[in-house]
Amino acid sequence: MQNRLKGVFQEKCPICGKGEVFETKGNVLLMKMPQMHETCAHCHHRYEIEPGYFMGAMYVSYGLNIAEMVAVLLVCLVIGVSLDYILYLAIFTVLLLWGFNFRMSRVIWMYLFNKG
Ligand SMILES: [Zn+2]
Repeated sequence: MQNRLKGVFQEKCPICGKGEVFETKGNVLLMKMPQMHETCAHCHHRYEIEPGYFMGAMYVSYGLNIAEMVAVLLVCLVIGVSLDYILYLAIFTVLLLWGFNFRMSRVIWMYLFNKG
């Protein structure tokens, strides 16, 4: 379990836990998408096992976005930020974490359906 969590956060292959999933991490400021390797360099596991496989990662991404917005809301309420700015801060945070959410949602999706 601990190794799988570590694998998710290090964005490693869900089967062997050694190969990198992403070739580039992307850059939100330069509008560059993260690029995935097609297969694991170590065990040759094909990451997108069927066309549209990563469509389900959108559900994970949605959950991550909601969790981040709730976290921003709670932090803002604790430090006393005006309600007028909380929505803008939440949207800004989600836009800033867009690349992270993209990568994490795909990796979490793969780990959910590959037992390794
Ligand atoms: Zn692998």
